Amino acid sequence: MADDEGTQATNDDASECKRYAVQLGYWNDPFINYFIRQTTRKPPEINRGYYARVKGIENFINKFSKLSGGKGQIINLGAGFDTLYWRLRDAGCSPQNFIELDFPTVTAKKCYHIKKHKQLIDKLNTEDGEIRFSSTDLHAANYHLIGTDLRHISELSNKLIQAEVDFNIPTLFLAECVLVYIDSNAASALIKWLAQKFSNSLFVNYEQVNMRDKFGQVMLSNLRCRGCLLSGVDDCESLETQQRRFTISGWEGSNAWTMVEVYDSLPESERIRIERVEMLDERELLIQLLQHYCIAVAWNGTMFKNLSIAQG
Ligand code: SAM
Repeated sequence: MADDEGTQATNDDASECKRYAVQLGYWNDPFINYFIRQTTRKPPEINRGYYARVKGIENFINKFSKLSGGKGQIINLGAGFDTLYWRLRDAGCSPQNFIELDFPTVTAKKCYHIKKHKQLIDKLNTEDGEIRFSSTDLHAANYHLIGTDLRHISELSNKLIQAEVDFNIPTLFLAECVLVYIDSNAASALIKWLAQKFSNSLFVNYEQVNMRDKFGQVMLSNLRCRGCLLSGVDDCESLETQQRRFTISGWEGSNAWTMVEVYDSLPESERIRIERVEMLDERELLIQLLQHYCIAVAWNGTMFKNLSIAQG
């Protein structure tokens, strides 16, 4: 479908932005270059926004890793070219299982890049050295890359089983700028199904928020993400709607913060460092951008109850 092609292309945009910020030294990612070869200049506020996004999510990943003691699994929904598996591997923090899901067109490209680069393939944990590939899927010992449409739950369920999912271990779901591309009913069905299946889990969702102005109109002009044109916009109305979409779908609790709060919660020394990477002409523009994105978390079970954005 034409819309799906547009959605898949958002991965190129996100990956390019991340690569550019990495190239400038905002954060370290030795693997992103293997997935995206070229990038063009992005404005400083976009780079800082990506920095806050990556570090804000990383904070919850670290908390999950500590609380689950390496015995959990991570399921990245709409993973695109995310390099988290390799970064965790390098840091000695691999979970028991790591599953990435995206449209087959996107996972096919990711499979291609993994196959092509020894630096990526060598890090896939394989006890017997066996890695199984199809054109769109890849299965290694604790890494599974799977092509599927997140709107089709029964196919998703089968694919997760192929990826050796364990419904009973602590599970972290990541959705970084993804749910907004899925229509509201399908996104609710997905969130509900995950809540029913995974009783000990944490969901970390990054996406748009505060999408209506005081007259109730959807604001689009200063936002870059094409997803806000799609029907998920009602879920992105406020921090409360972001939380409620989880609690009405079977998650026990939820919390949400704007990216302004997330940015301010990052370690001061790091903020000082990255604020020196590039000068900002207008800080106001950055604040406006950060106000329109948020991190929402939702939990099931007591292990991940009430996690906060405080570092640590
Ligand atoms: N999460 C990655 C990141 O932040 O770098 C990629 C973000 S990109 C903006 C959105 C991703 O969600 C794309 O890779 C897209 O293909 C994927 N996506 C959106 N809707 C999907 C669906 N129905 N099924 C599978 N993947 C989907």
